[in-house]
Amino acid sequence: MNDSDEMNEIRRAVQALCADFPGEYWRHKDAARAYPGEFVDALTRSGFLAALIPEEFGGSGLSLEAAAVIMEEIQAAGCNGASAHAQMYIMNTLLRYGSAEQKARYLPKIASGELRLQAFGVSEPTSGTDTLSLRTTAVRDGDSYVVNGQKIWTSRAEHSDLMLLLARTTPRDQVAKKTDGLSIFLVDMREVVGKGMAIKPIRTMMNHSTTEVFFDEMRIPASSLIGEEGKGFRYVLSGMNAERILIGAECIGDAKWFIRKATDYAGDREVFARPIGQNQGVQFPIARCYAQMRAAELMVRHAAQVYDQGGNPGEEANMAKLLASEASWAAADMCVQTHGGFGFAEEYDVERKFREARLYTVAPISTNLILSYIAEHVLGLPRSY
Ligand SMILES: Cc1cc2nc3c(=O)[nH]c(=O)nc-3n(C[C@H](O)[C@H](O)[C@H](O)COP(=O)(O)OP(=O)(O)OC[C@H]3O[C@@H](n4cnc5c(N)ncnc54)[C@H](O)[C@@H]3O)c2cc1C
Repeated sequence: MNDSDEMNEIRRAVQALCADFPGEYWRHKDAARAYPGEFVDALTRSGFLAALIPEEFGGSGLSLEAAAVIMEEIQAAGCNGASAHAQMYIMNTLLRYGSAEQKARYLPKIASGELRLQAFGVSEPTSGTDTLSLRTTAVRDGDSYVVNGQKIWTSRAEHSDLMLLLARTTPRDQVAKKTDGLSIFLVDMREVVGKGMAIKPIRTMMNHSTTEVFFDEMRIPASSLIGEEGKGFRYVLSGMNAERILIGAECIGDAKWFIRKATDYAGDREVFARPIGQNQGVQFPIARCYAQMRAAELMVRHAAQVYDQGGNPGEEANMAKLLASEASWAAADMCVQTHGGFGFAEEYDVERKFREARLYTVAPISTNLILSYIAEHVLGLPRSY
């Protein structure tokens, strides 16, 4: 399947931007566990992070397929899109369910870069993948909601102005349907950090700026509520297809980076007076990863197209994320093996990308839960949990 001229143009523009952020830049940020603010600013200035925002609000109103191409190229260039990808994938909730007033107030400022929407507070320490058991509460009090509880793995919270927050507004034993009673809020973090919201960084194996967020009697205006109270879980679910497709695209970009890096190295490195890539034992794993990546790429693209045509790509988005995250992880492992000892040396960037790529079979949704989705919703097998 060939790209259209529009997609090729986007690819070239992202490649040109990423050329200003070489491996050295990422190595330095990684060692210091520092946020790549310059890169995120450049992505914002270029308009790429506003790809999904409609033109009337200052964005470029592009398709999800175009957004996926942007994220793929960032990863394929060796950069780390995790520093900014949430703005793309949580945008859907605000676009689909935000009020006209919320969109007019926030979208132009997000598009211009004045405000960052990079934090998504769903996961909690006790409930894990079982989102319906989350414990953070938001209780209505006059013109406000008062929030208490804790989130974990809220990435980029220290570098975001706005947070999409999922909290329980009706106790679980008082709802008719178990998916009711959760609500989504667009929290202006500038108003509440230090006043009910506390953020604590979590150091991880890669540079991901992830955090724990604590809410202690945090008061937010009732106007922060997105859509209808109690319907938040539904809104979050509907955004997850977009998220899975975009993460799948990032994994394809990573796989392409590993495959290119391994191919170049296998062609250059001479051992026993011949390039290591002349040995079938070295070239076959690279070829296998290429085939695996191309198959996953087709699924990611197909899922994006179903999404853009207004269909429900639940099956395709889940399979795209599953196949792409496995393809990128297989390519990461192959790339280390191809590099031998040098795969462990920081200056080659392979070990950094290897650590970064490991995340995607676990988050934003783990492989087991995707397989459960396919088993239950596609194949009709009994629900396992
Ligand atoms: C670096 C990082 C960044 C993240 N960023 C964000 C973020 O910005 N916002 C946010 O809300 N969350 C974020 N997350 C959270 C992420 O989405 C979760 O970690 C992920 O969904 C898995 O949930 P868990 O860690 O609670 O694992 P658990 O739910 O505790 O599961 C642990 C393991 O058990 C398996 N498992 C659990 N239940 C079942 C079952 N019924 N059947 C089969 N297997 C099962 C899972 O597949 C997993 O492998 C991030 C996580 C990480 C590590």
